[in-house]
Amino acid sequence: MSTSRNHDRRTMLAHATRAFSEHGVVNPAVYHASTILADTLEDYETGSRGYPYGRYGTPTTRALESMIAQVEGGHRSFLTPSGLAAISTLLLGMTEKGSHVLLSDSVYGPTRRAADRLLGRFGVTAEYFDPRITAEELEARIRPQTSLVFLESPGSLTMEVQDVPALAQAAHRKGVPVAIDNTWSAGWHFDAFAAGCDISIQAATKYYAGHSDVLMGSITVTEDMEERIGKTHKDLGQCVGPDDAYLVLRGMRTLDVRMVRHMENALAVAGWLRDRTEVETVLYPALPGAPGHDLWKRDFTGACGLFSFVLKPISEKALHAFVNALELFGIGASWGGYESLVLRFDPRSPGARTAMEWPHEGPSLRLHIGLEDPGDLIADLSAAFEKMKEV
Ligand SMILES: *Cc1c(COP(=O)(O)O)cnc(C)c1O
Repeated sequence: MSTSRNHDRRTMLAHATRAFSEHGVVNPAVYHASTILADTLEDYETGSRGYPYGRYGTPTTRALESMIAQVEGGHRSFLTPSGLAAISTLLLGMTEKGSHVLLSDSVYGPTRRAADRLLGRFGVTAEYFDPRITAEELEARIRPQTSLVFLESPGSLTMEVQDVPALAQAAHRKGVPVAIDNTWSAGWHFDAFAAGCDISIQAATKYYAGHSDVLMGSITVTEDMEERIGKTHKDLGQCVGPDDAYLVLRGMRTLDVRMVRHMENALAVAGWLRDRTEVETVLYPALPGAPGHDLWKRDFTGACGLFSFVLKPISEKALHAFVNALELFGIGASWGGYESLVLRFDPRSPGARTAMEWPHEGPSLRLHIGLEDPGDLIADLSAAFEKMKEV
């Protein structure tokens, strides 16, 4: 778009979207626009300027869409006001009365609720499968009414890595499109389209925004899916504010350097945790020997800073002592910002998982490893383990 030669994608991050800028200003302008005027009635009625109305896009939002489409390697992207809005738009777009959708049991919780509750009201059946399903098993579950296979790899809490190329092939053998929630890799470390997916979702809230200050989502599609998803996106009135679009685009310039540091730090912390006697298992696919590591190594070019670990069984009180003693890990939802976070999760809680057994007894924690010094993070965890022992 912005340069003629084939540059490395890191160069792309720095130079993409220049065509949307004006007057020599490096960044695209932040257009606050509902009404966009046409010069003549003919221009208005033919839409010749390409920007008929603020809800349908401005140079600010189109610049961001173009950046995301390039990062994800898709044909085009659509923006939504949150990651979940991207998912529910996609689910509505890919189903009709009587449809059947197949989803990984490891999907983000609100994805499951949207599939069960929202789609359920329109007579759509959602069926869940073990994220480690084989291509043959998936193919066997596809019905004539199946209109979508929805993957999330790794699962954002339990971190199972899926054999996406094989699963996508199996779905395509039966003519069923495949969508993936690709937020963990940021579309930077996993090429969903090369792996055969038709649609890739990002919670742009996470690594694209990168600074814990914006909510946004994107749906990136192949050319074949553009019309269907585009119409649903339009019918639902999905659009985003210009200041938010600007912030996400600004965040994306540093995506590569942040991802490198998130991974480096996460590997240091995850490796240290694995050797602690209090820890039963560390679920970080980038860590050699961790579940899913071989598939991760085959299909990913890197990792983010999000992983989980399971503690050996301890009392509720000891768990609280551990988490509350952490000074550098904020207790809070979301991830992908510059700072570290901790959250407890329980795959055995009612409705969280329906297609697989969770094999672990002790409490599970998810960490987001931020851009702090990893030695400081390890010292913080170490001090918290001491507090835990005092209980
Ligand atoms: C956070 C998250 C979402 C939803 O994003 P929001 O912007 O918070 O709506 C979707 N999928 C995954 C994997 C997430 O972690």
